Formats: sequence, structure tokens, C-alpha cells
Amino acid sequence: MTTVFNQFRELTWVELTLWAGKKIVSDGRECYQRKEIRQLSLTKSGGILAWVEAEELFATRVEYEEGEFYSECTCNPIEHTCMHSIAVIIEFIVHLKKKIDIPQAESNDKRFFLL
Ligand SMILES: [Zn+2]
Repeated sequence: MTTVFNQFRELTWVELTLWAGKKIVSDGRECYQRKEIRQLSLTKSGGILAWVEAEELFATRVEYEEGEFYSECTCNPIEHTCMHSIAVIIEFIVHLKKKIDIPQAESNDKRFFLL
């Protein structure tokens, strides 16, 4: 778990941009600044799960596995990183830096079923 935390903590803007592209990262940053992230939670595998209250309510999950980040979001059924995933990562990093506790998602969390 600690390792995954560190992977997120040490993420830089450059890495985020390489992963998601400049446009998505800047949109994600704005989404974060609009404070659209709700109920940030951890998954059992050390990933993150959140609601994003944007133009609609989206469920977003970001995991780190075998050296790579991957995201899922209800805004986009196609395998593609979206701005909500970026916003959720930023929110998570801010929580870590401010040492704010993040609850573990229940295994029956509605968001797991949506994704
Ligand atoms: Zn999305």
C-alpha cells in the first residue's frame, strides 16, 4: 500500500502529461480547482475511487499496477484517461500532503458497480 501511495505522491506534472496529454491535464486541474471531487476513497488494491460532480455525476477510479497508472470513469466507456481521473489524482495528492485521512471504500460501494 505504501508503495502505491508513493507512486502517486511522486507523480509530477510531466508524468501526468505524458500519461494523459496536455489538454486533459489542464482540464483536470480546472476540474480539481472547481472542487468537483466527492467522497475520495481508497480501493483494496491501493488505488483511488471518487465521485466527480461535474456536468453530471461521474464515478472515477485510478489504479497503479505493474508500473503503470490506469483509470476508469463513467464519463467515457472507452479506455482513455479523462480529466476527471486527473482531478481525482490531484485531490488525492493534496490529501496525502495535508495528511488528511482517506477512508477505504466498502466492497459494495456503488461506484465499483458503475465502473
Ligand atoms: Zn471522466
